[in-house]
Amino acid sequence: MSSNQDIDELFDQIDKERFNKTTILCKYCGVTIPLSNNSGHKKYFMNRFSAQTDFDRFKQLIIHNQNSLYPYIEIHFVKCATCFNTTIFSYLVSSETDSKKFSMQPISEAKGYPDYVPAEQVQDYSESVAIAELSPRASLTLSRRCAQGLIRHKFPDVKQGNLFSEIKQLKTRVSQSEYRALNSLRHLGNTGAHPEKENSEFEINKIEVSSEEAQHAITIIEFLIKKWFVEPHDDEMAIKTIMEDAHKLKPDVNLDE
Ligand SMILES: [Zn+2]
Repeated sequence: MSSNQDIDELFDQIDKERFNKTTILCKYCGVTIPLSNNSGHKKYFMNRFSAQTDFDRFKQLIIHNQNSLYPYIEIHFVKCATCFNTTIFSYLVSSETDSKKFSMQPISEAKGYPDYVPAEQVQDYSESVAIAELSPRASLTLSRRCAQGLIRHKFPDVKQGNLFSEIKQLKTRVSQSEYRALNSLRHLGNTGAHPEKENSEFEINKIEVSSEEAQHAITIIEFLIKKWFVEPHDDEMAIKTIMEDAHKLKPDVNLDE
């Protein structure tokens, strides 16, 4: 970096790669948000010499600290014009070609769920996703706790015990695919020798869990939430509309007969 022109070119390149032609997906409501010319998008830069809020001042920072630009951090705040939630993410830029993205709000790549999915289990799930790479074992423990919470919400009359005994009680009450998913989850983190004697959380802490296994458990949780909470809710909304329309068109007909 020797001249203003070089710096301009560098920033043109950064612009192209990460800002102007980029959109993000709002994890809260699912809409795509453009980042270019968006007044809801604010970015901040910081290295060990200075913190700056816009490009022009950051250019000055580079001129004055040519040898110490890297590493720097970019923090982006993006307010969604549809749901008004703010997404926050950052980049750790180590060199011209090396940067890593971190999600900060929401904290993980977890799916957002509406409020008819029990909040405590959504939190277990989100945390499980957040640490799946960092600590697969802790992630799996959270996923199993999440599954148990989902079971107790959906089937409040299940006799509470360990995950194995609760899943067994569901054999005739859930679909075959749901039962297989639950069994698959149960076997993760178990040594397999005595599946009926399920590992306690303490025992899970002693065995190896891969990040693939943690990810598999997360996929199962997403499947259960979809089957037990999202789809029934969507069905209920659809049939409500159907019944209202039916009543408008044929007020005298009893559709239950
Ligand atoms: Zn949104």
